[in-house]
Amino acid sequence: MLLFTPGPTPVPESVRLAMAAPTLHHRTPEFEAIFKEARELLFELMGTDEVVMLASTGTGAMEAAVTNLCHDTLLNINAGKFGERFGKIAKAHGLNHVEIKHEWDTPATAQEVVDAINANPNIDAVAIQISESAGGLRHPVEGIAKAVKEINPEIMVIADGITAVGVERIDVTHIDALIAGSQKALMLPPGLAMLGLSNAAIEKIGEGKGYYLNLASEIKKQCQNTTAYTAATTLIIGLAAVLKEIKAYDNGAGLSKLYCDTARRAKATRFALEALGLHVYPKSPARSMTTIDDVNAKEIRDLLKTDFGVNVAGGQDHLKGKIFRINQMGLIAPYEMVWAVNAVELALAKLGRRSYDGTASKVFNEEYFKSMLKEDA
Ligand SMILES: *Cc1c(COP(=O)(O)O)cnc(C)c1O
Repeated sequence: MLLFTPGPTPVPESVRLAMAAPTLHHRTPEFEAIFKEARELLFELMGTDEVVMLASTGTGAMEAAVTNLCHDTLLNINAGKFGERFGKIAKAHGLNHVEIKHEWDTPATAQEVVDAINANPNIDAVAIQISESAGGLRHPVEGIAKAVKEINPEIMVIADGITAVGVERIDVTHIDALIAGSQKALMLPPGLAMLGLSNAAIEKIGEGKGYYLNLASEIKKQCQNTTAYTAATTLIIGLAAVLKEIKAYDNGAGLSKLYCDTARRAKATRFALEALGLHVYPKSPARSMTTIDDVNAKEIRDLLKTDFGVNVAGGQDHLKGKIFRINQMGLIAPYEMVWAVNAVELALAKLGRRSYDGTASKVFNEEYFKSMLKEDA
């Protein structure tokens, strides 16, 4: 079965093997050396002033960012389940929150964020997804962050990049907290979250808030290559391994080549599915996944699994049974992706929607290998 869900994503073999080594004690020079390596590679990935790793899923890092960086009112952008979660976190901690709400296919605009901030001077942090995984849309976070800082540089910008970090290069110039999670683009098992922080964020954190998710205590320890509490040793060993694997990708072309290939693959998939007459759900598709809305979404998804060995994700809440989402994150071989789009075409044929003629794989291959063919010509 090909795992094509936008999290969890398949774990590369070299990474699984690295994590199979005997358990290391976390307070040892051996582990601290691995921690240091993971930390340095994480700085390269995030491009932020500071990084911390947390033994939690992505939601733990969302919570840590909100509680440590918002002291009054949070503005959250809710265009899906994960954006909604930021508001729920603020509420759970007794913080005020105002929300900009959109249908799950519609990205936020800088103007509406500016208007919301101007209407509420108590807003001291803005939280938004870079890629909102609920409907597979890309918010224009960099532009929004810039606009926020133009109004007031003290307002913290929290960017959930759980399905964006490792997918595309993110301009962190105006971002104070960049969140990543292990089981999405970083191809690890679930249970590790990562936060990139700006110097302004560190200043605002001060003594930190809370206990386990107190970022001040973690920063203090992690600068010394250790953690405040027991480190998630196995996952951190995996993180160092996967970031090295990415660095070595395509004969050392590394991250930038991974970003480029992910963009090519996402585009080729979109073209292939549109050529079948399918409709891409989000108005601004993220590169992390391809989301299709369709009356037969459930039937297509079921057939992909039972007849063609491809596991894709469905929708949640009001989009349950109405969309399916195909993962683009991680190191994915083009031949696997070709099979996935071909399987969608076969499923449509089985449902009597169109006759099978290999359109999807043809369009995918033409688009994906276009640049290569040009070089050869
Ligand atoms: C998966 C995901 C989360 C939540 O992460 P957990 O690891 O399930 O806590 C948050 N934000 C986005 C955009 C996600 O895709």
